[in-house]
Amino acid sequence: MVTATRLHDEIDEILPGLIADRRYLHENPELGFQEFNTAKFVAERLQALGVEDIRTGINGTGITGLVRGKSAGENRVVLVRADMDALPIHEENDVEYKSRNDGVMHACGHDAHTAILLGLARTLMARRDEFAGTVKLLFQPSEEHFPGGAKGMIEEGVMEDPHVDASFALHMAQHQPLGVITIAGGPILAAPDSFRVTIQGKGGHAARPQNAIDPIVIGAQIVNALQTVVSRNVDPVESCVVTVGYFNAGEAFNVIPDVATIGGTVRTLTPEIRDLAEERVTAVIQGIAEAGRATVEIEYTRGYPATINDQAAAALVREAVIEVVGADNVVTPPPSMGGEDYAYFLLDRPGAMFQVGSKNEDRGLVWGHHHPRFDIDEESLAVGLETMTVTVLRYLERGLPATDGGN
Ligand code: MN
Repeated sequence: MVTATRLHDEIDEILPGLIADRRYLHENPELGFQEFNTAKFVAERLQALGVEDIRTGINGTGITGLVRGKSAGENRVVLVRADMDALPIHEENDVEYKSRNDGVMHACGHDAHTAILLGLARTLMARRDEFAGTVKLLFQPSEEHFPGGAKGMIEEGVMEDPHVDASFALHMAQHQPLGVITIAGGPILAAPDSFRVTIQGKGGHAARPQNAIDPIVIGAQIVNALQTVVSRNVDPVESCVVTVGYFNAGEAFNVIPDVATIGGTVRTLTPEIRDLAEERVTAVIQGIAEAGRATVEIEYTRGYPATINDQAAAALVREAVIEVVGADNVVTPPPSMGGEDYAYFLLDRPGAMFQVGSKNEDRGLVWGHHHPRFDIDEESLAVGLETMTVTVLRYLERGLPATDGGN
Protein backbone atom coordinates (compact mmCIF):
# COMPACT_ATOMS: atom_id res chain seq x y z
CA MET A 1 0.00 0.00 0.00
CA VAL A 2 1.28 3.41 -0.92
CA THR A 3 1.96 5.59 2.03
CA ALA A 4 0.59 9.07 1.64
CA THR A 5 3.71 10.70 3.07
CA ARG A 6 6.02 9.17 0.50
CA LEU A 7 3.71 10.16 -2.32
CA HIS A 8 3.31 13.63 -0.87
CA ASP A 9 7.08 14.19 -0.75
CA GLU A 10 7.50 12.83 -4.24
CA ILE A 11 4.83 15.18 -5.62
CA ASP A 12 6.45 18.12 -3.84
CA GLU A 13 9.62 17.22 -5.72
CA ILE A 14 7.98 17.04 -9.12
CA LEU A 15 5.72 20.07 -8.58
CA PRO A 16 8.10 22.47 -10.37
CA GLY A 17 7.85 20.24 -13.45
CA LEU A 18 4.08 20.17 -13.17
CA ILE A 19 3.99 23.95 -12.93
CA ALA A 20 6.30 24.25 -15.94
CA ASP A 21 4.01 22.00 -17.98
CA ARG A 22 0.93 23.94 -16.91
CA ARG A 23 2.58 27.25 -17.80
CA TYR A 24 3.70 25.98 -21.19
CA LEU A 25 0.12 24.90 -21.91
CA HIS A 26 -1.22 28.18 -20.54
CA GLU A 27 1.08 30.17 -22.82
CA ASN A 28 0.08 28.11 -25.84
CA PRO A 29 -3.69 27.65 -25.61
CA GLU A 30 -5.69 26.13 -28.46
CA LEU A 31 -9.42 26.05 -29.11
CA GLY A 32 -11.50 22.86 -29.17
CA PHE A 33 -10.57 20.31 -31.86
CA GLN A 34 -7.52 22.44 -32.71
CA GLU A 35 -5.30 21.18 -29.88
CA PHE A 36 -2.60 20.08 -32.34
CA ASN A 37 0.41 21.52 -30.52
CA THR A 38 -1.04 20.50 -27.14
CA ALA A 39 -1.57 16.93 -28.35
CA LYS A 40 1.98 16.80 -29.71
CA PHE A 41 3.31 18.03 -26.37
CA VAL A 42 1.26 15.45 -24.47
CA ALA A 43 2.25 12.56 -26.75
CA GLU A 44 5.94 13.43 -26.47
CA ARG A 45 5.71 13.63 -22.70
CA LEU A 46 3.94 10.26 -22.48
CA GLN A 47 6.54 8.72 -24.73
CA ALA A 48 9.41 10.10 -22.67
CA LEU A 49 7.80 8.71 -19.52
CA GLY A 50 7.55 5.23 -21.02
CA VAL A 51 3.75 5.12 -21.15
CA GLU A 52 2.61 2.18 -23.30
CA ASP A 53 0.23 1.86 -26.24
CA ILE A 54 0.04 5.60 -26.95
CA ARG A 55 -2.71 6.26 -29.46
CA THR A 56 -3.10 9.68 -31.04
CA GLY A 57 -5.57 11.33 -33.38
CA ILE A 58 -8.64 9.89 -31.65
CA ASN A 59 -11.64 12.03 -32.59
CA GLY A 60 -9.24 14.65 -33.89
CA THR A 61 -6.63 15.44 -31.28
CA GLY A 62 -7.52 12.93 -28.55
CA ILE A 63 -4.85 10.72 -27.01
CA THR A 64 -4.80 7.64 -24.81
CA GLY A 65 -1.93 5.78 -23.20
CA LEU A 66 -1.59 2.92 -20.75
CA VAL A 67 0.31 2.52 -17.51
CA ARG A 68 0.34 -1.18 -16.69
CA GLY A 69 0.99 -2.29 -13.15
CA LYS A 70 3.35 -5.19 -12.58
CA SER A 71 2.22 -6.96 -9.46
CA ALA A 72 -0.27 -9.79 -9.59
CA GLY A 73 -3.83 -9.31 -8.45
CA GLU A 74 -7.16 -8.25 -9.81
CA ASN A 75 -6.64 -6.77 -13.21
CA ARG A 76 -8.91 -3.76 -13.16
CA VAL A 77 -8.73 -1.06 -15.81
CA VAL A 78 -9.38 2.51 -14.74
CA LEU A 79 -9.57 5.49 -17.08
CA VAL A 80 -8.56 9.00 -16.01
CA ARG A 81 -9.67 11.83 -18.25
CA ALA A 82 -8.36 15.36 -18.79
CA ASP A 83 -9.68 17.95 -21.24
CA MET A 84 -7.17 20.01 -23.25
CA ASP A 85 -9.06 22.90 -24.87
CA ALA A 86 -8.99 26.63 -24.19
CA LEU A 87 -11.58 29.38 -24.68
CA PRO A 88 -12.02 32.28 -27.12
CA ILE A 89 -11.13 34.88 -24.48
CA HIS A 90 -8.44 37.55 -24.55
CA GLU A 91 -6.29 37.07 -21.45
CA GLU A 92 -5.99 40.10 -19.19
CA ASN A 93 -3.53 38.65 -16.70
CA ASP A 94 -0.12 40.26 -16.58
CA VAL A 95 1.95 37.16 -15.89
CA GLU A 96 5.08 35.76 -17.52
CA TYR A 97 3.10 32.77 -18.78
CA LYS A 98 0.36 34.91 -20.33
CA SER A 99 -1.30 33.48 -23.47
CA ARG A 100 0.74 34.04 -26.62
CA ASN A 101 -2.20 33.10 -28.76
CA ASP A 102 -4.15 36.34 -28.90
CA GLY A 103 -7.86 35.90 -28.23
CA VAL A 104 -7.42 32.37 -26.90
CA MET A 105 -7.00 31.60 -23.23
CA HIS A 106 -6.97 28.73 -20.77
CA ALA A 107 -9.62 30.36 -18.61
CA CYS A 108 -11.18 27.19 -17.23
CA GLY A 109 -8.11 25.37 -15.95
CA HIS A 110 -7.87 22.69 -18.63
CA ASP A 111 -4.14 23.48 -18.79
CA ALA A 112 -3.99 22.34 -15.17
CA HIS A 113 -6.06 19.21 -15.88
CA THR A 114 -3.67 18.24 -18.68
CA ALA A 115 -0.57 18.94 -16.56
CA ILE A 116 -1.99 16.91 -13.65
CA LEU A 117 -2.74 13.94 -15.90
CA LEU A 118 0.85 14.07 -17.17
CA GLY A 119 1.89 14.18 -13.51
CA LEU A 120 -0.25 11.11 -12.88
CA ALA A 121 1.61 9.30 -15.64
CA ARG A 122 4.76 10.08 -13.67
CA THR A 123 3.59 9.04 -10.20
CA LEU A 124 2.13 5.81 -11.60
CA MET A 125 5.12 4.90 -13.79
CA ALA A 126 7.29 5.32 -10.69
CA ARG A 127 5.31 2.71 -8.75
CA ARG A 128 4.31 0.16 -11.39
CA ASP A 129 5.70 -2.62 -9.21
CA GLU A 130 3.29 -1.66 -6.46
CA PHE A 131 -0.05 -2.06 -8.16
CA ALA A 132 -1.96 -4.55 -10.25
CA GLY A 133 -4.17 -3.48 -13.11
CA THR A 134 -4.04 -0.86 -15.83
CA VAL A 135 -4.54 2.89 -15.91
CA LYS A 136 -5.73 4.37 -19.18
CA LEU A 137 -4.77 8.03 -19.43
CA LEU A 138 -7.13 9.93 -21.70
CA PHE A 139 -6.59 13.44 -23.05
CA GLN A 140 -9.69 14.78 -24.70
CA PRO A 141 -10.30 17.61 -27.19
CA SER A 142 -12.98 20.25 -26.93
CA GLU A 143 -14.88 20.11 -23.67
CA GLU A 144 -16.07 23.70 -23.98
CA HIS A 145 -17.60 23.53 -27.40
CA PHE A 146 -20.61 21.39 -28.18
CA PRO A 147 -20.72 18.52 -29.28
CA GLY A 148 -17.53 18.13 -27.24
CA GLY A 149 -14.70 15.69 -27.67
CA ALA A 150 -15.76 12.98 -25.22
CA LYS A 151 -18.62 11.43 -27.16
CA GLY A 152 -16.59 10.98 -30.34
CA MET A 153 -13.70 9.41 -28.43
CA ILE A 154 -16.09 6.91 -26.85
CA GLU A 155 -17.58 6.19 -30.28
CA GLU A 156 -14.05 5.53 -31.52
CA GLY A 157 -13.69 2.87 -28.83
CA VAL A 158 -11.69 4.32 -25.92
CA MET A 159 -13.81 2.45 -23.38
CA GLU A 160 -12.61 -0.87 -24.84
CA ASP A 161 -9.26 -2.50 -25.66
CA PRO A 162 -8.64 -2.82 -22.80
CA HIS A 163 -12.20 -2.72 -21.43
CA VAL A 164 -12.51 0.15 -18.95
CA ASP A 165 -14.17 -0.74 -15.64
CA ALA A 166 -14.42 2.73 -14.10
CA SER A 167 -13.26 6.28 -14.70
CA PHE A 168 -12.27 9.36 -12.77
CA ALA A 169 -11.76 13.02 -13.64
CA LEU A 170 -11.08 16.25 -11.82
CA HIS A 171 -11.81 19.91 -12.42
CA MET A 172 -10.21 22.98 -10.91
CA ALA A 173 -12.62 24.94 -8.70
CA GLN A 174 -11.90 28.62 -8.52
CA HIS A 175 -14.84 29.12 -6.15
CA GLN A 176 -13.13 26.95 -3.53
CA PRO A 177 -9.95 27.84 -1.65
CA LEU A 178 -6.71 25.97 -2.20
CA GLY A 179 -6.65 22.81 -0.10
CA VAL A 180 -10.38 22.14 -0.35
CA ILE A 181 -11.79 19.38 -2.53
CA THR A 182 -15.43 18.87 -3.39
CA ILE A 183 -16.99 15.49 -4.11
CA ALA A 184 -20.59 14.35 -4.23
CA GLY A 185 -22.45 11.28 -5.44
CA GLY A 186 -25.37 11.56 -7.84
CA PRO A 187 -25.99 14.47 -10.23
CA ILE A 188 -23.26 17.12 -9.96
CA LEU A 189 -23.76 19.06 -13.21
CA ALA A 190 -26.71 19.66 -15.51
CA ALA A 191 -27.63 18.67 -19.03
CA PRO A 192 -27.16 22.00 -20.85
CA ASP A 193 -29.71 21.94 -23.68
CA SER A 194 -30.45 24.93 -25.91
CA PHE A 195 -33.20 26.26 -28.09
CA ARG A 196 -33.59 28.79 -30.87
CA VAL A 197 -36.96 30.06 -32.02
CA THR A 198 -37.68 31.96 -35.21
CA ILE A 199 -41.04 33.72 -35.02
CA GLN A 200 -42.34 34.48 -38.45
CA GLY A 201 -44.85 37.32 -38.21
CA LYS A 202 -45.94 39.75 -40.90
CA GLY A 203 -44.15 43.04 -41.11
CA GLY A 204 -45.90 46.33 -41.65
CA HIS A 205 -46.42 49.95 -40.66
CA ALA A 206 -46.26 50.62 -36.94
CA ALA A 207 -49.41 52.73 -37.24
CA ARG A 208 -51.45 49.88 -38.74
CA PRO A 209 -50.93 46.86 -36.44
CA GLN A 210 -54.25 45.39 -37.57
CA ASN A 211 -52.63 44.55 -40.91
CA ALA A 212 -49.52 43.04 -39.39
CA ILE A 213 -48.58 40.07 -37.21
CA ASP A 214 -46.24 41.52 -34.64
CA PRO A 215 -43.44 39.04 -33.76
CA ILE A 216 -42.20 41.30 -30.94
CA VAL A 217 -45.47 41.13 -29.02
CA ILE A 218 -45.69 37.38 -29.59
CA GLY A 219 -42.04 36.97 -28.60
CA ALA A 220 -42.56 38.95 -25.40
CA GLN A 221 -45.43 36.64 -24.47
CA ILE A 222 -43.27 33.63 -25.21
CA VAL A 223 -40.47 34.93 -22.95
CA ASN A 224 -42.95 35.46 -20.14
CA ALA A 225 -44.73 32.17 -20.61
CA LEU A 226 -41.46 30.25 -20.62
CA GLN A 227 -41.01 31.35 -17.01
CA THR A 228 -43.95 29.13 -16.08
CA VAL A 229 -42.23 25.94 -17.23
CA VAL A 230 -40.06 25.87 -14.13
CA SER A 231 -42.57 27.49 -11.76
CA ARG A 232 -45.72 25.60 -12.85
CA ASN A 233 -44.63 22.38 -14.58
CA VAL A 234 -41.54 21.13 -12.76
CA ASP A 235 -41.84 19.56 -9.31
CA PRO A 236 -40.60 22.26 -6.89
CA VAL A 237 -38.09 19.89 -5.29
CA GLU A 238 -36.47 19.13 -8.66
CA SER A 239 -34.00 21.41 -10.45
CA CYS A 240 -34.52 23.12 -13.78
CA VAL A 241 -33.40 26.39 -15.34
CA VAL A 242 -34.96 28.03 -18.38
CA THR A 243 -33.05 31.16 -19.40
CA VAL A 244 -33.72 33.26 -22.48
CA GLY A 245 -30.34 34.55 -23.54
CA TYR A 246 -31.28 36.63 -26.56
CA PHE A 247 -34.28 38.22 -28.22
CA ASN A 248 -33.62 39.99 -31.50
CA ALA A 249 -36.19 41.86 -33.56
CA GLY A 250 -36.74 45.11 -35.39
CA GLU A 251 -34.69 48.20 -36.05
CA ALA A 252 -37.03 51.14 -36.61
CA PHE A 253 -39.50 52.87 -34.30
CA ASN A 254 -42.19 52.97 -36.94
CA VAL A 255 -41.93 49.47 -38.37
CA ILE A 256 -43.40 46.20 -37.19
CA PRO A 257 -40.71 43.68 -38.12
CA ASP A 258 -41.34 40.52 -40.06
CA VAL A 259 -39.29 38.19 -37.87
CA ALA A 260 -38.04 37.85 -34.30
CA THR A 261 -35.55 35.34 -32.96
CA ILE A 262 -35.31 34.14 -29.39
CA GLY A 263 -32.84 31.69 -27.92
CA GLY A 264 -31.82 30.30 -24.60
CA THR A 265 -30.81 27.34 -22.50
CA VAL A 266 -32.67 24.67 -20.54
CA ARG A 267 -30.72 22.90 -17.80
CA THR A 268 -31.83 19.84 -15.90
CA LEU A 269 -30.37 17.10 -13.69
CA THR A 270 -32.49 14.07 -14.55
CA PRO A 271 -33.68 12.48 -17.82
CA GLU A 272 -37.32 12.77 -16.68
CA ILE A 273 -37.19 16.51 -16.04
CA ARG A 274 -35.15 16.93 -19.21
CA ASP A 275 -37.92 15.34 -21.29
CA LEU A 276 -40.62 17.28 -19.46
CA ALA A 277 -38.83 20.61 -19.95
CA GLU A 278 -38.33 20.01 -23.65
CA GLU A 279 -41.99 19.07 -24.11
CA ARG A 280 -43.26 22.08 -22.16
CA VAL A 281 -40.86 24.66 -23.70
CA THR A 282 -41.79 23.50 -27.17
CA ALA A 283 -45.54 23.39 -26.47
CA VAL A 284 -45.59 26.85 -24.85
CA ILE A 285 -43.77 28.42 -27.80
CA GLN A 286 -46.00 26.72 -30.37
CA GLY A 287 -49.22 27.50 -28.50
CA ILE A 288 -48.50 31.19 -28.08
CA ALA A 289 -47.34 31.59 -31.65
CA GLU A 290 -50.51 29.92 -32.87
CA ALA A 291 -52.68 32.14 -30.70
CA GLY A 292 -50.90 35.14 -32.23
CA ARG A 293 -51.27 33.82 -35.80
CA ALA A 294 -47.50 33.63 -36.29
CA THR A 295 -45.60 30.59 -37.40
CA VAL A 296 -42.56 29.42 -35.48
CA GLU A 297 -39.59 27.28 -36.20
CA ILE A 298 -38.04 25.74 -33.09
CA GLU A 299 -34.55 24.24 -33.07
CA TYR A 300 -34.17 22.37 -29.81
CA THR A 301 -30.68 20.98 -29.29
CA ARG A 302 -29.78 18.48 -26.61
CA GLY A 303 -26.35 19.22 -25.19
CA TYR A 304 -24.29 16.99 -22.91
CA PRO A 305 -26.18 14.68 -20.56
CA ALA A 306 -26.24 15.53 -16.85
CA THR A 307 -23.00 14.55 -15.11
CA ILE A 308 -24.03 11.89 -12.60
CA ASN A 309 -21.33 10.61 -10.26
CA ASP A 310 -21.66 6.98 -9.26
CA GLN A 311 -22.32 6.81 -5.49
CA ALA A 312 -19.69 4.12 -4.86
CA ALA A 313 -17.06 5.87 -7.01
CA ALA A 314 -17.77 9.13 -5.17
CA ALA A 315 -17.42 7.32 -1.84
CA LEU A 316 -14.03 6.00 -2.95
CA VAL A 317 -12.90 9.48 -4.00
CA ARG A 318 -14.09 10.85 -0.66
CA GLU A 319 -11.87 8.35 1.18
CA ALA A 320 -8.90 9.40 -0.95
CA VAL A 321 -9.66 13.08 -0.40
CA ILE A 322 -9.80 12.61 3.37
CA GLU A 323 -6.47 10.84 3.21
CA VAL A 324 -4.91 13.73 1.27
CA VAL A 325 -6.49 16.93 2.62
CA GLY A 326 -8.25 15.75 5.78
CA ALA A 327 -11.95 15.48 6.58
CA ASP A 328 -12.20 19.20 7.38
CA ASN A 329 -11.33 20.11 3.81
CA VAL A 330 -13.87 17.96 2.03
CA VAL A 331 -16.96 19.75 0.80
CA THR A 332 -20.11 18.03 -0.47
CA PRO A 333 -21.62 20.63 -2.77
CA PRO A 334 -25.14 20.77 -4.16
CA PRO A 335 -25.33 20.22 -7.93
CA SER A 336 -24.36 23.10 -10.21
CA MET A 337 -26.39 23.85 -13.35
CA GLY A 338 -23.26 24.08 -15.50
CA GLY A 339 -22.46 21.24 -17.90
CA GLU A 340 -19.50 18.99 -18.69
CA ASP A 341 -18.99 16.30 -21.32
CA TYR A 342 -17.21 13.99 -18.89
CA ALA A 343 -20.89 13.03 -18.42
CA TYR A 344 -20.60 10.67 -21.40
CA PHE A 345 -17.95 8.58 -19.65
CA LEU A 346 -20.40 8.07 -16.78
CA LEU A 347 -23.30 6.85 -18.89
CA ASP A 348 -22.46 3.15 -18.78
CA ARG A 349 -19.46 2.77 -16.46
CA PRO A 350 -19.17 3.94 -12.86
CA GLY A 351 -16.97 6.90 -12.14
CA ALA A 352 -16.77 10.29 -10.49
CA MET A 353 -15.45 13.78 -11.00
CA PHE A 354 -14.11 15.81 -8.08
CA GLN A 355 -13.19 19.48 -7.91
CA VAL A 356 -9.92 20.88 -6.66
CA GLY A 357 -9.97 24.25 -4.90
CA SER A 358 -7.61 26.68 -6.64
CA LYS A 359 -8.58 30.10 -5.28
CA ASN A 360 -6.16 32.15 -3.20
CA GLU A 361 -7.54 35.47 -1.98
CA ASP A 362 -4.24 36.61 -0.48
CA ARG A 363 -2.60 36.32 -3.87
CA GLY A 364 -5.50 37.91 -5.74
CA LEU A 365 -6.32 34.64 -7.51
CA VAL A 366 -10.05 35.13 -7.18
CA TRP A 367 -11.42 35.47 -10.69
CA GLY A 368 -13.89 32.83 -11.78
CA HIS A 369 -13.89 30.35 -14.62
CA HIS A 370 -14.18 31.87 -18.11
CA HIS A 371 -13.10 35.30 -16.81
CA PRO A 372 -10.23 37.05 -18.68
CA ARG A 373 -8.33 37.23 -15.39
CA PHE A 374 -8.87 33.62 -14.36
CA ASP A 375 -5.74 32.14 -12.83
CA ILE A 376 -5.17 29.35 -10.33
CA ASP A 377 -2.95 28.87 -7.32
CA GLU A 378 -0.55 26.31 -8.76
CA GLU A 379 -0.19 24.51 -5.43
CA SER A 380 -3.57 23.06 -6.40
CA LEU A 381 -1.76 21.00 -9.06
CA ALA A 382 -0.08 19.05 -6.25
CA VAL A 383 -3.33 18.61 -4.32
CA GLY A 384 -5.13 17.42 -7.43
CA LEU A 385 -2.36 15.04 -8.43
CA GLU A 386 -2.02 13.52 -4.98
CA THR A 387 -5.76 12.98 -4.68
CA MET A 388 -6.02 11.46 -8.15
CA THR A 389 -3.04 9.18 -7.55
CA VAL A 390 -4.48 7.89 -4.29
CA THR A 391 -7.94 7.49 -5.88
CA VAL A 392 -6.57 5.41 -8.75
CA LEU A 393 -4.39 3.23 -6.53
CA ARG A 394 -7.19 2.57 -4.05
CA TYR A 395 -9.52 1.68 -6.89
CA LEU A 396 -7.02 -0.77 -8.36
CA GLU A 397 -6.44 -2.33 -4.93
CA ARG A 398 -10.02 -2.66 -3.80
CA GLY A 399 -12.46 -1.81 -6.56
CA LEU A 400 -15.51 0.24 -5.65
CA PRO A 401 -16.81 0.14 -2.09
CA ALA A 402 -20.24 -1.28 -1.41
CA THR A 403 -22.87 1.45 -0.96
CA ASP A 404 -26.52 1.19 -0.12
CA GLY A 405 -27.69 3.65 -2.74
CA GLY A 406 -27.52 3.63 -6.52
CA ASN A 407 -27.29 6.73 -8.63
MN1 MN B 1 -14.04 23.29 -17.81
